[in-house]
Amino acid sequence: MTASRVLVLNSGSSSVKYQLLDMADRTRLAVGLVERIGEQTSRLVHTPLTGGGARREQTGPIADHGAALKAVAAELAADGLGLDSPELAAVGHRVVHGGTRFTRPTVIDDEVLAEVQKLVPLAPLHNPANVTGIQVARSLRPDIPQVAVFDTAFHATMPEYAARYAIDTEIADRLSIRRYGFHGTSHAYVSRATAALLGKAPGEVNVIVLHLGNGASASAVRAGVCVDTSMGLTPLEGLVMGTRSGDLDPAVIFHLARVGGLSVDEIDDLLNKRSGLLGLCGDNDMREVLRRAGEGDQAARTAFETYVHRLKKYIGAYAAVLGRVDAVAFTAGVGENAAAVREAAVSGLEELGLAVDAGLNSVRADEPRLISPEYARVAVAVVPTDEELEIATQAFELVTH
Ligand code: AMP
Repeated sequence: MTASRVLVLNSGSSSVKYQLLDMADRTRLAVGLVERIGEQTSRLVHTPLTGGGARREQTGPIADHGAALKAVAAELAADGLGLDSPELAAVGHRVVHGGTRFTRPTVIDDEVLAEVQKLVPLAPLHNPANVTGIQVARSLRPDIPQVAVFDTAFHATMPEYAARYAIDTEIADRLSIRRYGFHGTSHAYVSRATAALLGKAPGEVNVIVLHLGNGASASAVRAGVCVDTSMGLTPLEGLVMGTRSGDLDPAVIFHLARVGGLSVDEIDDLLNKRSGLLGLCGDNDMREVLRRAGEGDQAARTAFETYVHRLKKYIGAYAAVLGRVDAVAFTAGVGENAAAVREAAVSGLEELGLAVDAGLNSVRADEPRLISPEYARVAVAVVPTDEELEIATQAFELVTH
């Protein structure tokens, strides 16, 4: 028996999302999450996907990530999927920031862990939790490889002129200020799945990927290689998001400080957590924005229009970057579900070869699908993302080749 299971862990500051996959047939064996870690009302939701087991839920205090992973291990063991099984080949960890050092999935040793820790100033919200998740999983199964899959890695191929900010080079280099990009696992998966949908190899197509979730980013992928992306040093740059502003004049920050009297931390909080759709209309969930806009609510309508306008600008920009576009792919919560956003983002772009068929666009499905009319020069696609499968695939390939 060869070990073919991979546990994928996505550790946040107070949560752990997990999936156990069998890479022999790329099936999911169990999925779940632990949230509100460190509070009295922690919650673990576990769903076995084999053997007909039902979703189980428990609430009660879970003190830290160590206790959370032990609780997850107990749930998996109850389904006969214990983490002590010889069938477990690796643990794949989502790590948000890999800096310039980590451009590929990497087996974690003490040196790698120390390097990931050094990147904490670049991702103060995410990397510490990722490090904790790695440490806990390592202590549970020190004998199997722990693999870090970095959110930034897919974007490491961006040319220097797309990765640079036009600021003093000495200062930029000393402080590691450059454009890294995020959601890379999703952009990699979706750009490849889009090529497959067109019946082509990734190297044969140029794709604009629009990952529109609560966080949102666009990427320009030429022949399977990322050449530009909308997030930068941090996930704040680029598109209008659920709670993040995306692009703004940097002088807005000086103004908020000098005239508004806000501290750096207050500005950080404002732009990351209280801006975007939430800042514009009070709701960060696109479903609510669409419902309110449909009822004639002016703030919701403006929020929707601002969101779509920014999106359209990035489609145009990346058409210019790529020169030739074969497909535009929508993915993540908004991209996969909000037909109105897809239609509005593409409307008026017929000169770029883009169009959406209203009938196809309104179909709801879990499968990758085309929504452009047959005559359109550029394929417009809805491609559900699967970051966990991508992490498991990359981790499994690394430990078996
Ligand atoms: P994600 O970060 O990919 O999980 O996406 C989460 C976001 O997707 C939510 O905040 C919603 O705004 C959006 N979303 C989910 N379902 C729908 C839907 N049916 N229509 C519009 N937006 C949706």
